[in-house]
Amino acid sequence: MHYHIILTEKCNSKCKYCYEKSMNEFENGLDKKWKFDFSAPCDSEVSVDKLKKFLNAGDTIIFYGGEPLVNFKKMKEIMDGLQNSGIRFCIQTNGKLLDEIPYEYIKKMDKMLVSIDGDKKRTDYNKGIGTYDLVINNVKKLREKGYKNEIVARMTINSEFNDLYEQVKHLLSLGIFDSIHWQIDAGFYKNDFDEKKFSEFADKYNSSVEKLIEFWIDEMKKGKVLRLYPFVGILNRLMGWDKETRMHCGSGYANYTITTDGKITSCPIMNNVAEFYAGNLESEKLKQFDLDEPCDSCDYKNICGGRCLYWNKAKLWPEEGDKLICKTIIFLIEHVKNKIPEIKKLISSGKISEKDFEYEKYFGPEIIP
Ligand code: SF4
Ligand code: SF4
Repeated sequence: MHYHIILTEKCNSKCKYCYEKSMNEFENGLDKKWKFDFSAPCDSEVSVDKLKKFLNAGDTIIFYGGEPLVNFKKMKEIMDGLQNSGIRFCIQTNGKLLDEIPYEYIKKMDKMLVSIDGDKKRTDYNKGIGTYDLVINNVKKLREKGYKNEIVARMTINSEFNDLYEQVKHLLSLGIFDSIHWQIDAGFYKNDFDEKKFSEFADKYNSSVEKLIEFWIDEMKKGKVLRLYPFVGILNRLMGWDKETRMHCGSGYANYTITTDGKITSCPIMNNVAEFYAGNLESEKLKQFDLDEPCDSCDYKNICGGRCLYWNKAKLWPEEGDKLICKTIIFLIEHVKNKIPEIKKLISSGKISEKDFEYEKYFGPEIIP
């Protein structure tokens, strides 16, 4: 099982798609739909002893926030307390403090997701001037120190831009990331839907996805399977290698979140929402969550899995907005599907192998953008 653990709700960044939007979104109506529970402290007070009893060897903890490295003290306490317990550690971080954390802790991370949106111009526009250089230098320094485990570049695509192809190629060209995942910032806030703008974005984004799939295949022809998570995850389902049909992120069945007071919720975004509590650190069995419409009766459900539990339940965008989001998902699925004969040929010729497409599920990349 995978568990995100919220070390702190504080963050040392003010990103456009997170901080700025949440500041502008006092009224989204969810307080009428769900019960918000603000009793949890800002910094994690979870007992390491309770964690030890709750977790099993082989489980994975993904440190999460806010920005998890802002509360390194708690991260250290948990890592020290759980050493030799067979628990694996991963982290999702904005990367700004990576150089301030003792390397002996960083090197114990099996995998790392580092937020970066593309080149310097793009990243600094979204996340603040100086962010790109700071984060890229920190990742470079980790590589110089010998960190060989997977580092995922975790991009957020906002609908102001539609150059996914160029931005992904830029991140690949740096040679410091093993893999890339992106998610579109769409449907997560009530007041940011603009039909004309998003519709134009969706068309251009789709063209960019198409170009990127061509590039992905060209690289396969040279013997290299690029770990672009949305493509790899969807292909695994289309090929039947991944038999799961539920949400790729695992939220609410294979991936839960431990809140700062030790409650278990379905996903970090549902941190304070009582309806999504699945239990606590004493629970023997955790509640599971199913999706509602439109995913329930969608022909693509088994491959897509339903994009996101929060999006599906919160329904912050109007139906026409959600339909546009699904149009991008279906486009991506169909275009990966079209490449299956070519991919099969490359596998049977020995150029690449089925093994090249294997990946660990549920540690962070949600697969469906
Ligand atoms: S394509 Fe859209 S409606 Fe269909 S399963 Fe995915 S998210 Fe749900
Ligand atoms: S896709 Fe949605 S439900 Fe899944 S982890 Fe991300 S925010 Fe949570």
